[in-house]
Amino acid sequence: MYLQALELDIPFRAVFADTGNEHELTLEYLHDLPRLTGGPAIEWVKADFVDAFARKRVTVQTKWVRENLLPDAKIASTLQALEPSGSLFLDCCKVHGRFPSTKARFCTSELKHEPIFYGVHEPLMAAGNMVVSWQGVRAEESSRRAALPKMDWPSPHLCNYRPLLRWSLADVVATHKRHGIELNPLYQMGMHRVGCMPCIHSRKDEIRRIAELFPDHIRKIAEWEIAVGCAGKRQVPVCTFFAQDTTPQGRRTQTPVGIHGIVEWARSGPGGDINQTTMDLEINQCLSAMGACE
Ligand code: SF4
Repeated sequence: MYLQALELDIPFRAVFADTGNEHELTLEYLHDLPRLTGGPAIEWVKADFVDAFARKRVTVQTKWVRENLLPDAKIASTLQALEPSGSLFLDCCKVHGRFPSTKARFCTSELKHEPIFYGVHEPLMAAGNMVVSWQGVRAEESSRRAALPKMDWPSPHLCNYRPLLRWSLADVVATHKRHGIELNPLYQMGMHRVGCMPCIHSRKDEIRRIAELFPDHIRKIAEWEIAVGCAGKRQVPVCTFFAQDTTPQGRRTQTPVGIHGIVEWARSGPGGDINQTTMDLEINQCLSAMGACE
């Protein structure tokens, strides 16, 4: 979308909302893009949960205590957990006492939409500007995205414009080539998405690759699962990043599977067959999820 805006030669502001769960290669890629293209610097926006933590601590100290929701020791440890951690994604989940899910995708709204809206759109509109917000979604990516209009107007001073909606993957690759820019290297490593690492929607093969290539990100999630468990009122020692119905075992036993169990499942073959690994099926295949080799 950045390259397309440069080609159209229109002045624009490029904004990136950092969720605090990004891959370091994506951050590097975004830092390099203006230098490589001569385009405008990318503005970084971030959510802030300081007030949300303060409100939640008051709720725990008043409502939770009044309603006797937890023993005193657990109230004390919950209050201790409700402090900014240095990672926005984790803070967001601690405030909610859980991880996001397909049905409760507060990560997108609180870590991406709201920081961009309140940090960029709203001040522009308050100054009397009309804002055209470009969104880089493509119809091919999902049926939900295919149903989106090319343009809509959430308010009289804000227009959402989706210039790439009808673009094919070949259009995306060709645009990068015209500018001499590589795709985000994560695509070459088999990732289907380059948002959070991992994303709550990461596919089985992506999770396996993340575990192989970036074990630190799996360790990070394991630590977060404990930290979010400590901040919630469900008194579970661990709150799981992936939904419990992600794996056949989770569906069968109705028990959440932590990240290490998810990785174990991701390494299994179809239907959770531990005798056939997905690695066996992928030998000699191009790893690029974007089909960049073709
Ligand atoms: S990339 Fe995935 S985990 Fe990250 S904010 Fe978007 S939906 Fe949530």
